[in-house]
Amino acid sequence: MEAFKYALLKIINGERKINERRKYVITGIALSLVHFFFMCLFLALGVRVMFIYNFVVVLMYTCIAIITGRVARYTYIFIVTFIEILLHSVLASLMLGWNWGFMTYTLSLIPASFYIAYTVDYFKKKLRIPAIASGIVFICFLLVREISTSIGPMYDADIPVRAVHGTYLFNMMLTFVFLWVVAFLFSLEVYYMQHNLENENISLEQLASFDPLTHLLNRRSMNSYLEESCYRVKKKRGKFSIIMADIDDFKKINDTYGHAVGDMVLVEVASTIIKEVRDEDCVCRWGGEEILILVRSGMEQAKNVAWRICRGVAGKTLEVKDESIKVTMTLGVAEYRDDETIDEVVGRADKRMYDGKLRGKNRVVCDK
Ligand code: GH3
Ligand code: MG
Ligand code: MG
Repeated sequence: MEAFKYALLKIINGERKINERRKYVITGIALSLVHFFFMCLFLALGVRVMFIYNFVVVLMYTCIAIITGRVARYTYIFIVTFIEILLHSVLASLMLGWNWGFMTYTLSLIPASFYIAYTVDYFKKKLRIPAIASGIVFICFLLVREISTSIGPMYDADIPVRAVHGTYLFNMMLTFVFLWVVAFLFSLEVYYMQHNLENENISLEQLASFDPLTHLLNRRSMNSYLEESCYRVKKKRGKFSIIMADIDDFKKINDTYGHAVGDMVLVEVASTIIKEVRDEDCVCRWGGEEILILVRSGMEQAKNVAWRICRGVAGKTLEVKDESIKVTMTLGVAEYRDDETIDEVVGRADKRMYDGKLRGKNRVVCDK
Protein backbone atom coordinates (compact mmCIF):
# COMPACT_ATOMS: atom_id res chain seq x y z
CA MET A 1 0.00 0.00 0.00
CA GLU A 2 2.88 2.35 0.88
CA ALA A 3 4.55 1.55 -2.46
CA PHE A 4 1.28 2.30 -4.30
CA LYS A 5 0.91 5.64 -2.46
CA TYR A 6 4.52 6.51 -3.26
CA ALA A 7 4.09 5.65 -6.97
CA LEU A 8 0.85 7.68 -7.13
CA LEU A 9 2.54 10.68 -5.54
CA LYS A 10 5.38 10.47 -8.06
CA ILE A 11 2.87 10.36 -10.94
CA ILE A 12 0.92 13.34 -9.56
CA ASN A 13 4.15 15.33 -9.12
CA GLY A 14 5.06 14.58 -12.73
CA GLU A 15 8.17 12.61 -11.76
CA ARG A 16 6.90 9.35 -13.14
CA LYS A 17 4.92 8.41 -16.25
CA ILE A 18 1.65 6.52 -15.96
CA ASN A 19 2.11 2.93 -17.04
CA GLU A 20 0.54 2.86 -20.54
CA ARG A 21 -0.52 -0.80 -20.42
CA ARG A 22 -2.08 -0.52 -16.99
CA LYS A 23 -4.00 2.53 -18.18
CA TYR A 24 -5.50 0.63 -21.14
CA VAL A 25 -6.22 -2.47 -19.07
CA ILE A 26 -8.09 -0.38 -16.45
CA THR A 27 -10.00 1.46 -19.23
CA GLY A 28 -10.92 -1.89 -20.80
CA ILE A 29 -12.21 -3.23 -17.46
CA ALA A 30 -14.13 0.01 -16.72
CA LEU A 31 -15.80 0.03 -20.14
CA SER A 32 -16.67 -3.62 -19.87
CA LEU A 33 -18.35 -2.97 -16.46
CA VAL A 34 -20.32 0.00 -17.84
CA HIS A 35 -21.54 -2.09 -20.76
CA PHE A 36 -22.38 -4.94 -18.41
CA PHE A 37 -24.66 -2.53 -16.56
CA PHE A 38 -26.28 -1.48 -19.86
CA MET A 39 -26.64 -5.14 -20.84
CA CYS A 40 -28.66 -5.76 -17.66
CA LEU A 41 -30.65 -2.55 -18.20
CA PHE A 42 -31.60 -3.46 -21.78
CA LEU A 43 -32.42 -7.01 -20.73
CA ALA A 44 -34.75 -5.64 -18.07
CA LEU A 45 -36.34 -3.24 -20.56
CA GLY A 46 -36.60 -5.96 -23.18
CA VAL A 47 -34.60 -4.07 -25.85
CA ARG A 48 -33.10 -7.17 -27.48
CA VAL A 49 -30.88 -5.52 -30.09
CA MET A 50 -29.17 -3.34 -27.48
CA PHE A 51 -28.88 -6.28 -25.07
CA ILE A 52 -27.06 -8.35 -27.74
CA TYR A 53 -24.89 -5.36 -28.72
CA ASN A 54 -23.83 -4.83 -25.10
CA PHE A 55 -23.24 -8.52 -24.54
CA VAL A 56 -20.80 -8.60 -27.51
CA VAL A 57 -19.15 -5.38 -26.37
CA VAL A 58 -18.61 -6.68 -22.81
CA LEU A 59 -16.78 -9.67 -24.32
CA MET A 60 -14.80 -7.36 -26.60
CA TYR A 61 -13.57 -5.06 -23.80
CA THR A 62 -12.75 -8.03 -21.59
CA CYS A 63 -10.61 -9.41 -24.44
CA ILE A 64 -8.99 -5.99 -24.92
CA ALA A 65 -8.18 -5.79 -21.18
CA ILE A 66 -6.61 -9.27 -21.33
CA ILE A 67 -4.74 -8.78 -24.64
CA THR A 68 -3.42 -5.30 -23.73
CA GLY A 69 -1.63 -6.91 -20.79
CA ARG A 70 0.51 -8.72 -23.42
CA VAL A 71 0.56 -6.72 -26.65
CA ALA A 72 0.31 -2.96 -26.81
CA ARG A 73 -1.89 -2.11 -29.81
CA TYR A 74 -3.06 1.26 -28.57
CA THR A 75 -3.88 2.64 -32.03
CA TYR A 76 -6.38 -0.13 -32.79
CA ILE A 77 -7.81 -0.06 -29.27
CA PHE A 78 -8.52 3.65 -29.63
CA ILE A 79 -10.15 3.27 -33.08
CA VAL A 80 -12.32 0.34 -31.95
CA THR A 81 -13.33 2.10 -28.71
CA PHE A 82 -14.11 5.35 -30.50
CA ILE A 83 -16.36 3.59 -33.05
CA GLU A 84 -17.99 1.47 -30.36
CA ILE A 85 -18.90 4.38 -28.06
CA LEU A 86 -20.22 6.43 -30.98
CA LEU A 87 -22.22 3.49 -32.33
CA HIS A 88 -23.65 2.63 -28.91
CA SER A 89 -24.71 6.22 -28.28
CA VAL A 90 -26.31 6.56 -31.74
CA LEU A 91 -28.10 3.19 -31.60
CA ALA A 92 -29.35 3.63 -28.02
CA SER A 93 -30.60 7.17 -28.76
CA LEU A 94 -32.37 6.11 -31.98
CA MET A 95 -33.92 3.05 -30.32
CA LEU A 96 -35.03 4.66 -27.05
CA GLY A 97 -35.07 8.40 -27.74
CA TRP A 98 -33.04 11.53 -27.10
CA ASN A 99 -34.31 11.93 -23.50
CA TRP A 100 -32.28 8.99 -22.25
CA GLY A 101 -29.08 11.02 -22.60
CA PHE A 102 -27.03 8.37 -24.37
CA MET A 103 -25.57 10.89 -26.82
CA THR A 104 -23.78 12.78 -24.01
CA TYR A 105 -21.09 10.09 -24.04
CA THR A 106 -20.03 11.25 -27.49
CA LEU A 107 -18.95 14.60 -25.97
CA SER A 108 -16.20 12.86 -24.01
CA LEU A 109 -14.87 11.42 -27.29
CA ILE A 110 -13.62 14.89 -28.31
CA PRO A 111 -11.07 15.45 -25.48
CA ALA A 112 -10.30 11.71 -25.51
CA SER A 113 -9.31 11.92 -29.22
CA PHE A 114 -6.98 14.83 -28.52
CA TYR A 115 -5.53 13.00 -25.51
CA ILE A 116 -4.81 9.96 -27.68
CA ALA A 117 -3.23 12.21 -30.33
CA TYR A 118 -0.96 13.49 -27.56
CA THR A 119 0.04 10.15 -26.11
CA VAL A 120 -0.07 7.44 -28.80
CA ASP A 121 2.98 7.50 -31.08
CA TYR A 122 1.03 6.74 -34.27
CA PHE A 123 -1.21 9.79 -33.83
CA LYS A 124 1.49 12.18 -32.64
CA LYS A 125 1.73 15.42 -34.61
CA LYS A 126 -1.40 14.39 -36.55
CA LEU A 127 -3.84 16.82 -35.04
CA ARG A 128 -6.11 16.50 -38.03
CA ILE A 129 -7.13 13.02 -36.80
CA PRO A 130 -8.76 14.20 -33.52
CA ALA A 131 -10.08 17.24 -35.41
CA ILE A 132 -11.82 14.98 -37.97
CA ALA A 133 -12.99 12.61 -35.20
CA SER A 134 -14.53 15.58 -33.36
CA GLY A 135 -16.23 16.68 -36.60
CA ILE A 136 -17.76 13.21 -37.01
CA VAL A 137 -18.98 13.30 -33.40
CA PHE A 138 -20.54 16.72 -33.97
CA ILE A 139 -22.36 15.60 -37.16
CA CYS A 140 -23.64 12.41 -35.50
CA PHE A 141 -24.80 14.43 -32.49
CA LEU A 142 -26.85 16.81 -34.66
CA LEU A 143 -28.22 14.07 -36.95
CA VAL A 144 -29.33 11.87 -34.05
CA ARG A 145 -30.90 14.84 -32.32
CA GLU A 146 -32.87 15.74 -35.49
CA ILE A 147 -33.89 12.16 -36.33
CA SER A 148 -34.83 11.13 -32.81
CA THR A 149 -36.88 14.26 -32.16
CA SER A 150 -38.62 14.24 -35.55
CA ILE A 151 -39.52 10.55 -35.93
CA GLY A 152 -39.42 9.49 -32.28
CA PRO A 153 -37.92 6.35 -30.71
CA MET A 154 -37.94 3.05 -32.64
CA TYR A 155 -38.69 1.16 -29.46
CA ASP A 156 -41.83 2.58 -27.96
CA ALA A 157 -42.82 0.16 -25.21
CA ASP A 158 -44.37 1.64 -22.11
CA ILE A 159 -41.36 2.56 -20.00
CA PRO A 160 -41.88 4.40 -16.68
CA VAL A 161 -40.69 8.03 -16.76
CA ARG A 162 -38.63 7.32 -13.63
CA ALA A 163 -36.54 4.76 -15.54
CA VAL A 164 -35.88 7.25 -18.35
CA HIS A 165 -34.96 9.98 -15.89
CA GLY A 166 -32.76 7.68 -13.80
CA THR A 167 -30.87 6.46 -16.88
CA TYR A 168 -30.48 10.05 -18.08
CA LEU A 169 -28.90 11.06 -14.74
CA PHE A 170 -26.66 8.00 -14.78
CA ASN A 171 -25.48 8.77 -18.34
CA MET A 172 -24.82 12.40 -17.44
CA MET A 173 -22.88 11.44 -14.36
CA LEU A 174 -20.76 8.92 -16.25
CA THR A 175 -20.03 11.46 -19.00
CA PHE A 176 -18.78 13.88 -16.34
CA VAL A 177 -16.60 11.14 -14.88
CA PHE A 178 -15.14 10.39 -18.35
CA LEU A 179 -14.46 14.06 -18.98
CA TRP A 180 -12.84 14.42 -15.56
CA VAL A 181 -10.63 11.36 -16.10
CA VAL A 182 -9.47 12.55 -19.56
CA ALA A 183 -8.71 16.07 -18.25
CA PHE A 184 -6.86 14.60 -15.27
CA LEU A 185 -4.78 12.26 -17.44
CA PHE A 186 -4.00 15.16 -19.77
CA SER A 187 -2.75 17.25 -16.84
CA LEU A 188 -0.56 14.38 -15.64
CA GLU A 189 1.00 14.09 -19.11
CA VAL A 190 1.73 17.83 -19.12
CA TYR A 191 3.22 17.71 -15.59
CA TYR A 192 5.43 14.82 -16.61
CA MET A 193 6.65 16.64 -19.71
CA GLN A 194 7.24 19.84 -17.75
CA HIS A 195 9.22 17.95 -15.12
CA ASN A 196 11.32 16.27 -17.85
CA LEU A 197 12.00 19.57 -19.59
CA GLU A 198 13.07 21.18 -16.31
CA ASN A 199 15.49 18.31 -15.67
CA GLU A 200 16.85 18.55 -19.21
CA ASN A 201 17.33 22.28 -18.77
CA ILE A 202 19.31 21.71 -15.56
CA SER A 203 21.50 19.12 -17.34
CA LEU A 204 22.06 21.45 -20.30
CA GLU A 205 22.90 24.31 -17.99
CA GLN A 206 25.40 22.08 -16.18
CA LEU A 207 26.92 21.02 -19.50
CA ALA A 208 27.22 24.64 -20.57
CA SER A 209 28.72 25.85 -17.27
CA PHE A 210 31.18 23.16 -16.20
CA ASP A 211 34.33 21.62 -17.60
CA PRO A 212 33.52 17.96 -18.32
CA LEU A 213 36.91 16.63 -17.13
CA THR A 214 37.53 18.44 -13.85
CA HIS A 215 33.91 19.54 -13.14
CA LEU A 216 35.27 23.01 -12.38
CA LEU A 217 33.49 26.03 -13.85
CA ASN A 218 34.38 26.66 -17.47
CA ARG A 219 35.67 29.97 -18.82
CA ARG A 220 32.28 31.07 -20.14
CA SER A 221 30.52 30.78 -16.78
CA MET A 222 33.54 32.20 -14.88
CA ASN A 223 33.31 35.35 -16.98
CA SER A 224 29.85 36.07 -15.62
CA TYR A 225 31.11 35.67 -12.02
CA LEU A 226 34.01 38.00 -12.81
CA GLU A 227 31.67 40.61 -14.27
CA GLU A 228 29.40 40.38 -11.25
CA SER A 229 32.41 40.80 -8.91
CA CYS A 230 33.60 43.89 -10.84
CA TYR A 231 30.13 45.38 -10.51
CA ARG A 232 30.12 44.76 -6.75
CA VAL A 233 33.52 46.45 -6.32
CA LYS A 234 32.32 49.43 -8.37
CA LYS A 235 29.29 49.66 -6.07
CA LYS A 236 31.73 49.58 -3.11
CA ARG A 237 30.39 46.22 -2.00
CA GLY A 238 33.62 44.33 -1.29
CA LYS A 239 36.89 43.37 -2.95
CA PHE A 240 38.06 40.45 -4.98
CA SER A 241 41.34 38.95 -6.09
CA ILE A 242 42.44 36.62 -8.83
CA ILE A 243 44.75 33.66 -8.48
CA MET A 244 46.19 32.22 -11.68
CA ALA A 245 47.49 28.72 -10.97
CA ASP A 246 49.46 26.61 -13.45
CA ILE A 247 50.70 23.06 -13.04
CA ASP A 248 54.50 22.90 -13.27
CA ASP A 249 56.06 20.76 -16.00
CA PHE A 250 52.75 19.25 -16.97
CA LYS A 251 54.04 18.44 -20.43
CA LYS A 252 56.66 16.20 -18.79
CA ILE A 253 53.91 14.35 -16.85
CA ASN A 254 52.05 13.75 -20.12
CA ASP A 255 55.21 12.65 -21.91
CA THR A 256 56.28 10.32 -19.08
CA TYR A 257 53.00 8.69 -18.07
CA GLY A 258 50.71 9.36 -21.03
CA HIS A 259 47.84 11.76 -21.68
CA ALA A 260 45.27 9.68 -19.75
CA VAL A 261 47.37 9.88 -16.58
CA GLY A 262 47.79 13.61 -17.27
CA ASP A 263 44.00 13.92 -17.28
CA MET A 264 43.72 12.14 -13.95
CA VAL A 265 46.38 14.41 -12.46
CA LEU A 266 44.29 17.40 -13.59
CA VAL A 267 41.22 15.93 -11.86
CA GLU A 268 43.17 15.33 -8.63
CA VAL A 269 44.66 18.83 -8.65
CA ALA A 270 41.20 20.33 -9.23
CA SER A 271 39.75 18.46 -6.25
CA THR A 272 42.67 19.54 -4.03
CA ILE A 273 42.08 23.18 -4.98
CA ILE A 274 38.35 22.95 -4.36
CA LYS A 275 39.05 21.78 -0.80
CA GLU A 276 41.25 24.82 -0.11
CA VAL A 277 38.78 27.55 -1.15
CA ARG A 278 35.63 28.84 0.53
CA ASP A 279 32.15 28.18 -0.87
CA GLU A 280 31.75 31.76 -2.07
CA ASP A 281 34.98 31.62 -4.12
CA CYS A 282 34.90 30.32 -7.70
CA VAL A 283 37.36 27.92 -9.32
CA CYS A 284 37.55 27.64 -13.10
CA ARG A 285 39.52 25.67 -15.65
CA TRP A 286 40.85 28.67 -17.53
CA GLY A 287 42.97 26.82 -20.08
CA GLY A 288 44.66 23.42 -20.52
CA GLU A 289 46.43 23.12 -17.13
CA GLU A 290 45.73 26.63 -15.93
CA ILE A 291 43.24 27.17 -13.16
CA LEU A 292 41.83 30.57 -12.29
CA ILE A 293 40.44 31.24 -8.82
CA LEU A 294 38.20 34.15 -7.93
CA VAL A 295 38.69 34.90 -4.22
CA ARG A 296 36.09 37.27 -2.83
CA SER A 297 38.49 39.21 -0.61
CA GLY A 298 41.62 41.37 -0.74
CA MET A 299 45.25 40.47 -1.37
CA GLU A 300 46.10 39.17 2.13
CA GLN A 301 43.34 36.56 2.16
CA ALA A 302 43.99 35.59 -1.50
CA LYS A 303 47.70 35.16 -0.78
CA ASN A 304 46.89 32.77 2.07
CA VAL A 305 44.54 30.78 -0.16
CA ALA A 306 47.24 30.63 -2.88
CA TRP A 307 49.86 29.33 -0.44
CA ARG A 308 47.42 26.74 0.97
CA ILE A 309 46.83 25.49 -2.59
CA CYS A 310 50.54 25.53 -3.41
CA ARG A 311 51.46 23.53 -0.29
CA GLY A 312 48.37 21.32 -0.55
CA VAL A 313 49.24 20.23 -4.10
CA ALA A 314 52.97 19.86 -3.46
CA GLY A 315 52.37 17.89 -0.26
CA LYS A 316 50.35 15.24 -2.01
CA THR A 317 51.57 12.17 -3.83
CA LEU A 318 49.05 11.32 -6.49
CA GLU A 319 48.44 7.62 -6.90
CA VAL A 320 47.30 7.30 -10.49
CA LYS A 321 47.27 3.95 -12.29
CA ASP A 322 49.97 2.40 -10.04
CA GLU A 323 52.15 5.46 -10.50
CA SER A 324 53.14 7.74 -7.61
CA ILE A 325 53.34 11.23 -9.06
CA LYS A 326 54.47 14.41 -7.36
CA VAL A 327 52.97 17.60 -8.75
CA THR A 328 53.67 21.25 -7.99
CA MET A 329 51.95 24.47 -9.04
CA THR A 330 53.01 28.06 -9.52
CA LEU A 331 50.47 30.72 -8.61
CA GLY A 332 50.20 34.43 -9.35
CA VAL A 333 47.90 36.66 -7.26
CA ALA A 334 46.44 40.09 -8.09
CA GLU A 335 43.79 42.14 -6.28
CA TYR A 336 41.22 43.91 -8.45
CA ARG A 337 41.68 47.68 -8.66
CA ASP A 338 38.90 50.19 -9.29
CA ASP A 339 38.34 51.05 -12.97
CA GLU A 340 40.37 48.08 -14.14
CA THR A 341 39.01 45.66 -16.76
CA ILE A 342 38.73 41.92 -16.14
CA ASP A 343 41.42 41.26 -18.73
CA GLU A 344 43.76 43.64 -16.91
CA VAL A 345 43.44 42.00 -13.48
CA VAL A 346 43.68 38.49 -14.98
CA GLY A 347 46.71 39.70 -16.99
CA ARG A 348 48.45 40.92 -13.84
CA ALA A 349 47.85 37.60 -12.04
CA ASP A 350 49.11 35.75 -15.13
CA LYS A 351 52.24 37.90 -15.24
CA ARG A 352 52.99 37.14 -11.58
CA MET A 353 52.49 33.44 -12.26
CA TYR A 354 55.11 33.63 -15.06
CA ASP A 355 57.44 35.48 -12.70
CA GLY A 356 57.06 32.53 -10.35
CA LYS A 357 57.97 30.12 -13.17
CA LEU A 358 61.10 32.13 -13.87
CA ARG A 359 62.01 32.15 -10.18
CA GLY A 360 61.97 28.34 -9.99
CA LYS A 361 58.24 27.31 -9.88
CA ASN A 362 56.30 25.75 -6.95
CA ARG A 363 55.63 29.12 -5.36
CA VAL A 364 53.22 32.04 -5.01
CA VAL A 365 54.03 35.48 -6.39
CA CYS A 366 51.80 38.42 -5.45
CA ASP A 367 51.29 41.60 -7.43
CA LYS A 368 52.34 44.79 -5.63
P1 GH3 B 1 55.40 25.02 -17.12
O1 GH3 B 1 55.93 24.48 -15.86
O2 GH3 B 1 56.22 26.11 -17.68
O3 GH3 B 1 53.97 25.41 -17.01
O4 GH3 B 1 55.49 23.82 -18.17
P2 GH3 B 1 54.31 22.94 -18.70
O5 GH3 B 1 54.89 21.72 -19.31
O6 GH3 B 1 53.31 22.72 -17.66
O7 GH3 B 1 53.66 23.90 -19.76
P3 GH3 B 1 53.46 23.78 -21.30
O8 GH3 B 1 52.66 24.98 -21.68
O9 GH3 B 1 54.78 23.59 -21.99
O10 GH3 B 1 52.61 22.48 -21.50
C1 GH3 B 1 51.31 22.36 -21.07
C2 GH3 B 1 50.87 20.97 -21.42
O11 GH3 B 1 49.57 20.70 -20.91
C3 GH3 B 1 50.80 20.75 -22.91
C4 GH3 B 1 49.46 20.12 -23.13
O12 GH3 B 1 49.54 18.98 -23.93
C5 GH3 B 1 49.01 19.75 -21.75
N1 GH3 B 1 47.57 19.77 -21.64
C6 GH3 B 1 46.74 20.80 -21.87
N2 GH3 B 1 45.46 20.41 -21.63
C7 GH3 B 1 45.50 19.11 -21.28
C8 GH3 B 1 44.51 18.14 -20.92
O13 GH3 B 1 43.31 18.42 -20.89
N3 GH3 B 1 44.92 16.89 -20.60
C9 GH3 B 1 46.23 16.57 -20.60
N4 GH3 B 1 46.57 15.33 -20.26
N5 GH3 B 1 47.17 17.44 -20.96
C10 GH3 B 1 46.83 18.69 -21.28
MG1 MG C 1 52.24 24.39 -16.84
MG1 MG D 1 50.25 26.64 -18.97
